[in-house]
Amino acid sequence: MSESDKREEQSAPGSQPAERVGESATSRDFIRMIIDEDLRTGKNDGRVMTRFPPEPNGYLHIGHAKSICLNFGIARDYAGLCNLRFDDTNPAKEDVEYVDAIKEDVHWLGFDWGDREYFASDYFERLYAFAVQLIRQGNAYVDSLTPEEIREHRGTLTEPGRESPYRERSMEENLDLFERMRNGEFEDGAHVLRAKIDMTSGNINMRDPTIYRIRRLDHHRTGNKWFIYPMYDFAHALSDMIEGITHSVCTLEFEDHRPLYDWFLDTLRTPCHPQQIEFARLNLSYTVMSKRKLLQLVEEGFVRGWDDPRMPTISGLRRRGYTPEAIRDFCDRIGVAKKESLVDVALLEHCLREDLNRRAPRFMAVLNPLKVVLLNYPEDQVEMLDAINNPEDPSAGTRKVPFSRVLYIEQEDFRENPPKQFFRLSPGREVRLRYGYLITCVDVVKDKTTGEVTELRCTYDPATRGGDTPDGRRVKGTLHWVSAPHALEAEVRMYERLLTVEDPSEETAGRSFKDFLSPESLKVLTHCRVEPGLADAVPGTRCQFERMGYFCVDPDSAPGKPVFNRTVTLRDTWAKIEKSLTREGTRN
Ligand code: ATP
Ligand code: MG
Repeated sequence: MSESDKREEQSAPGSQPAERVGESATSRDFIRMIIDEDLRTGKNDGRVMTRFPPEPNGYLHIGHAKSICLNFGIARDYAGLCNLRFDDTNPAKEDVEYVDAIKEDVHWLGFDWGDREYFASDYFERLYAFAVQLIRQGNAYVDSLTPEEIREHRGTLTEPGRESPYRERSMEENLDLFERMRNGEFEDGAHVLRAKIDMTSGNINMRDPTIYRIRRLDHHRTGNKWFIYPMYDFAHALSDMIEGITHSVCTLEFEDHRPLYDWFLDTLRTPCHPQQIEFARLNLSYTVMSKRKLLQLVEEGFVRGWDDPRMPTISGLRRRGYTPEAIRDFCDRIGVAKKESLVDVALLEHCLREDLNRRAPRFMAVLNPLKVVLLNYPEDQVEMLDAINNPEDPSAGTRKVPFSRVLYIEQEDFRENPPKQFFRLSPGREVRLRYGYLITCVDVVKDKTTGEVTELRCTYDPATRGGDTPDGRRVKGTLHWVSAPHALEAEVRMYERLLTVEDPSEETAGRSFKDFLSPESLKVLTHCRVEPGLADAVPGTRCQFERMGYFCVDPDSAPGKPVFNRTVTLRDTWAKIEKSLTREGTRN
C-alpha cells in the first residue's frame, strides 16, 4: 500500500457514515412528493417547470451539481422544463467569463436548457415597473436614511425595528425620487427603495427590506444603462413568476425569505405564484464550497485556477478526470433532504471508481522508476506481449506491450531488507512481471556515495512467458513494469485533499480555512515512464495505471510529453465503510 493510500484509509471518517449521507436514492424525495400531490390536485394545470439560477460570480461547484441534478432531474422525470437563469443583479461581482463557464459545466454534466437561457437583467425594465406598482399601491417607499442608520433601525432578533422617518412620504414624492434614482441623479447610498411591510415582524426579512439600491456601476450585460439594481429577493421571486416557474427549489438558508417571496407575488397580485421549496445544501467533508472561499483560493494563488484539479468546482473535477456519470450517480445517492448534513467525500470517490472501473482502459506506468536489467535476456530482442485492456470489459480487447532486456519497475516494489509481509521484489526473491515473465533478483547496484539503489540485476525464466508457471510453482508478487527503451517519459501530478480538516465549517476562533490547507495537496513527479501506447492520448483521456490508480491526461500535455493527473487511488474507503456497516447490520 502506498503512503497516500494509507493516509487516505486513515483519514476516512468512519464513525457514522450512514447518517451523513441523507436519504437513499430509492426513496422518493420530499420535493417530488410535493409535485406528485400538486399534479394530483391539478395545480398549475399539470405543468412542472423548474429553473437553475446561478449568480455568475464564480464557477460552479459540486454543490451546484446537486441543485442542477435536482432541477433538471425533476423536469426530466415529469416531462417538464428547466430553465437556466443567470441571477445577475449585482454588477460588482459578475462577469461573462463566469456565464460561459457555467454554461459549459451544465452541458458537460449532461443537461440542456434548450433555448430557455435567461438573465434576470433581461427583466430589469419589468422589475422596475413592478417596483413602481408597489409605490403606487402604497407598498413601497424611498428611504433616505444612511445605510448605517438603516441598520440601526432594523432592530435585532430580540428587539423590533423602528420605522424610518421617511416611511410616510407621499406616493408622488416616492415616484419622483425613484425615477431620479433611476436617472442617476444620486450617489450610491443616498436613497434606497424599500418594501413597506412591518418593522416589528419577528422575521427580520420582513422589516421593510430594501428592493432597489443605487449602484453606479457598469453591468456585464446592460452596460451603463442602469444606476439602480434590484435586490435578490425581489428579482428572484418576480423572475420565477415571469418565466412561469411552478416549483422554485432553493437551499435552506432561504427558508426565512419565503414569506417575503410570497409577499411580493401576493402584493403585486401576479398571474401565477411559484412555490418556493427549500432543501439542504450539499456539504462535503474535507472540502470548502462557498464561491467566496473558492475565489480566495484562486486569487491568492493557493491553487492554479478555478479548474485546478484540487478544486471542488465542476471544471476542476473535470480536469481531475471525474466523469459526469459519476457526479450524477453521486447526486442520486445522496438524495434530497430537509436537514443539513456532511457527506463523506469518500462516497464521491467511490462513485467515480465504480464508473472508471467499468470503463477506463488499463495501462502500465511506473511513477518512480527503478532500472532492472535482465542479465540472460538477449541484448537486441524485443517481444510484443499481449495485455488485457480492461478485465471488467472483454469487448475492450487486448493490446501489445513491448518487453526488452532493460525495464523499469516501481521503486517501492523493491526492498533490500523486506519486512515479513512484503511479497514484492528483494534479493534472491522471484516475482511475476504482469503479462511478462518471472524474474529473480540476483544483484543490487548502489550509488557509491549515497548508498541509494540505482539498478537491479535480475534473471528471467524464458519458460514463463505471459506470467505462467508451467511447473506450478507459487509466486506471490506481481509487478507492473515498462520497457526502458520504449517507454514514454511523463509528468504525473499526484493530488491529496486540499484541506486537512474534515469539517472546514468548524472554523475555530481566529482561524480561517486557509490555515487548514494541506501542504501535500500537490506533488509533481517529473520522470515517470508510461507505456508507449499512451503517446497519442489526448487531454481528457482517462485510464487506470495498473496498481497505481486512475489517471487523466491534462491539457498541459505536449506532443510526446504527456502530463497526467491522478484522478483517484484504487483503494476504496467507502466500500470498506459500507461493508463494515453491512456486517454490523447482520450481527444486530
Ligand atoms: P455559494 O453559497 O457556494 O457561494 P450560491 O448559493 O451563492 O453558492 P448561486 O449561484 O446563487 O450560488 O447558486 C445557484 C443555485 O445553486 C442556487 O439555487 C443554490 O441554492 C444552489 N446551490 C448553491 N450551493 C449549493 C450546495 N452546496 N448544495 C446544493 N445547492 C447549492
Ligand atoms: Mg446565492
